[in-house]
Amino acid sequence: MGFTSTGLHPSLINAVTEQGYTEPTPIQSATIPAILAGQDVMAGAQTGTGKTAAFALPILQQLSDAPRAEGARRVIRALVLTPTRELAQQVYKSFVDYGQNSPLQTALVYGGASVNTQMAALAGGVDILVATPGRLLDLIGRGAADLREVRHLVFDEADRMLDMGFIDEIRRIMKPIPADRQTLLFSATFGNEIFDLSKTLLTDPTLIEV
Ligand code: AMP
Repeated sequence: MGFTSTGLHPSLINAVTEQGYTEPTPIQSATIPAILAGQDVMAGAQTGTGKTAAFALPILQQLSDAPRAEGARRVIRALVLTPTRELAQQVYKSFVDYGQNSPLQTALVYGGASVNTQMAALAGGVDILVATPGRLLDLIGRGAADLREVRHLVFDEADRMLDMGFIDEIRRIMKPIPADRQTLLFSATFGNEIFDLSKTLLTDPTLIEV
């Protein structure tokens, strides 16, 4: 059966086949159809379960299915927030690998690296942005990151983001993002704090635990 049952297009299935994946992992089988259906999803998943592809693949597909109008500016339509630079780098690489057959542009911003280089990448036009919260706020403050067209928002390792004290940053980042969006929250653990946060950020989410 492989990935065909997930509803992904052949171009994306080819890209994952090139990565050596033959079958979706359980989290992928559960989340990909729900995300493609446009639902908000709250998923419990540890690192190593294939959670990155579980959100990256259906986001790539949805963006490909809603192409920019001809001549329209490239704007950030998907935002992935991660707690650390290392995770941001891994997630970015996944989007680039899986999106190799698509014209979508992904950019990566995190603290501790040149802000000018990141501003130049954003100025070049980006569809998907992978970011750590502090640097993203800095770039928003400089007018370099416009989130008013974000339609897909992902919190990756949300529990770690809260543990690291990013709640204020998250609330400030949320301000320009339209309410009319798809929100996906991935977390290894689900404490009260995550549930409280999810109530303010997600709409009628599908709960998935594998
Ligand atoms: P993650 O949980 O997203 O950090 O992924 C863990 C590892 O599993 C990464 O090295 C992925 O490349 C790999 N992976 C993700 N999906 C699959 C799959 N369906 N089949 C085999 N490996 C996979």
